[in-house]
Amino acid sequence: MTDTTPGTLPRIAWIGLGIMGSPMSENLIKAGYPVTGFTLEPDKLGRLADAGGTAAESVADAVRDADVIITMVPASPQVEAVAYGDDGILAHARPGALLIDMSSITPGTSVGLAKAAAEKGVRVLDAPVSGGEAGAVEAVLSIMVGGERADFDAALPIFETLGRTVVLCGPHGSGQTVKAANQLIVAVNIQACAEAVVFLEKSGVDLPAALDVLNGGLAGSTVLTRKKDNFLRRDFAPGFRIDLHHKDMGIVTDAARAVGAALPVGGLVAQLVASLRAQGDGGLDHSALLRSVERLSAHGEAAA
Ligand code: NAD
Repeated sequence: MTDTTPGTLPRIAWIGLGIMGSPMSENLIKAGYPVTGFTLEPDKLGRLADAGGTAAESVADAVRDADVIITMVPASPQVEAVAYGDDGILAHARPGALLIDMSSITPGTSVGLAKAAAEKGVRVLDAPVSGGEAGAVEAVLSIMVGGERADFDAALPIFETLGRTVVLCGPHGSGQTVKAANQLIVAVNIQACAEAVVFLEKSGVDLPAALDVLNGGLAGSTVLTRKKDNFLRRDFAPGFRIDLHHKDMGIVTDAARAVGAALPVGGLVAQLVASLRAQGDGGLDHSALLRSVERLSAHGEAAA
């Protein structure tokens, strides 16, 4: 059990307070961790302060006194900007600090970051997550970690405050490789669910009843549980943006090509995600893959 006596928990700097970072950092605050945060939107900094955290004025200001620095930003370029910039983490973190990058980025970027940070005496873990906004709010994320065992053990109380399934997958970059596989499975699953929805509706079947019974059998999935209402209500407020899933399909197809693994269905779904984005739906939740199936089948609102 984590000791929650004030002053005994590591001081945390949290960079990136978006859809995921805000609820995750708030769960650490609730568990008693002192959290200082920085992000680009002033209203998100206000939310952190309201939750009991401290709003910093810059990355440098946030990380200077931190024992643990957590980044949760969109993609590799933002991780590199907050890590390597003049105002960034490596220029201002204390030697001995632990940097945990929880963003979903290319495995190669994680490996490069670990190497550069080691030269400054900063330890690094890649620790991307799965479970979506609801998983972040409910602190039930799956956390897939790459790095050294000793650093993983040191970070475990923090991970267990944020998630339920926490696994060290291997050396630096391994967490990102596993996350890439996760995004492949999720995208293909959403696409299959979306195709089933259009097929069922066009067949005149009671859709809520059909999805309930499907979810109780082998076709059931966390995707169907979490996204069922999005499909039924055509509610595509994010959640997880198509723009981010497009980024992740690029990561998994590149990583698979590098090791000579063929992803025939993944490649197809990557193209469908790219097409949805090209049609202006990049800001919608990834359950909006349904809109693309509707267009292909001349069905529903998206096809009108
Ligand atoms: P988001 O766009 O909602 O939030 C990103 C945050 O990063 C923003 O608050 C932004 O201000 C901040 N940021 C960007 N550049 C910055 C900089 N230079 N300095 C400081 N802050 C900066 O994104 P999100 O949905 O929270 O996703 C974050 C990461 O988590 C992504 O890599 C995403 O792929 C991954 N992820 C998201 C979900 C989800 O359901 N949303 C689920 C699992 C993993």
